[in-house]
Amino acid sequence: MSSRDWVYEKFCSYYKNPRYKFPQPVQFSQREYAFLLFKERAMVRHKSFATPTSLTAFVRERIPSDVYHSCAYYENPEAEMDKKGWSGADLVFDIDADHIPTSCNKIHDEWKCLNPECRVSGGMNGKGITPEECPACGGMKFDVKTWACEQCIETTRVETRKLLDMLTNDFGFAEQEIHTFFSGHRGYHIHVENEAVRSLDTMARKEIVDYVSGIGIDMFDQKKRKSANTRKKASSPTFSLSDYGWKRRLKNGMYKFLTDATREDLLKIGIAKKGANTLTKDKDSLLKRCIEENRWGSVKGVGYETWMHIAEHVKNLEAAQIDTVVTTDIHRLIRANGTLHGKTGLLKVEFPVKELDTFDPFVGAVAFKEGIAKVQVSEAPEFKLSGETFGPFKNQAAELPMGAAVLLILKGRAEVLR
Ligand SMILES: [Zn+2]
Ligand SMILES: [Zn+2]
Repeated sequence: MSSRDWVYEKFCSYYKNPRYKFPQPVQFSQREYAFLLFKERAMVRHKSFATPTSLTAFVRERIPSDVYHSCAYYENPEAEMDKKGWSGADLVFDIDADHIPTSCNKIHDEWKCLNPECRVSGGMNGKGITPEECPACGGMKFDVKTWACEQCIETTRVETRKLLDMLTNDFGFAEQEIHTFFSGHRGYHIHVENEAVRSLDTMARKEIVDYVSGIGIDMFDQKKRKSANTRKKASSPTFSLSDYGWKRRLKNGMYKFLTDATREDLLKIGIAKKGANTLTKDKDSLLKRCIEENRWGSVKGVGYETWMHIAEHVKNLEAAQIDTVVTTDIHRLIRANGTLHGKTGLLKVEFPVKELDTFDPFVGAVAFKEGIAKVQVSEAPEFKLSGETFGPFKNQAAELPMGAAVLLILKGRAEVLR
């Protein structure tokens, strides 16, 4: 039996367990469902189900490696795309280590160009985030090896925290309208289910993406400044930080950044020596005078341009790094809650918003909790699952709990032994 067939059987027994139940999204019957079939490796989509029971029956019969549903609601979910009758969509966000430069992806992620005519023999390859196009040949197909480590999860958790802060404090969504999920791999999904967001079109969603990403924020009251500039003397900066929205974010962010920043940190982000000296020497009084009291002018060596530069830097730190395409696509398919991820064997699972910091995906998303398996591991870094630590492994046999064995096989790091 091949390792893939072996994992297929695990997926079978998981879904065929009589206790298995689909957590259903709202407007269940108006969603399009899509399945990547395990054996056939083919996508089946444009499906809809009247009841969760019929969906469960379908999954038990076909055994998918991955299950998705539309964020959109349709009049006819089974019709072709342009005949479905779009009647609204949840607002969704995807925060994934695939798109965020983490400190660990250069260590555990690899890609290799699959174009047989790649100018690098055997295919150009590298570490870190997979490029859109092969730098050697422009090819767009890659063999990608990734890993999900605690650093990946922590990085995406920080971004998710920033996003949740914006959704609740700036947009005013109630906690019960926001659903937070571990994606099943190495990131988080946020779904907002609220009457007001349902009918938003792509352009409106793009505006939300820009806000979350800190794009086009007029935080410096530049209009006011321009009119001030028409007077003879150049005026002092007029941007005023407040306790709302991005201004609050910048105020707190600049305060924190300047409190922690050493002279070297300031030089590193491009602040001139004179400014960096002032900002580190008179730190406490400057923080009070400028940031707390909004009196930015007449600071030796720290003019408008310098403040602007610091604010820009802090804005980038405070923006939430989301996969922007997911949010703007009103027909997007997203992994279904409570289903297995075909690259890990972990579940996409929902957890309460307030448990973001305490929910450990490597415990809470583990699906295969019973039994052990013998595997031959080619290579795997040290990892934790269900509170146990495994590896690192290099060309060795290991007897592992089921969840860890499935993970290594699906990640292409191990073969099952009998
Ligand atoms: Zn190439
Ligand atoms: Zn990592």
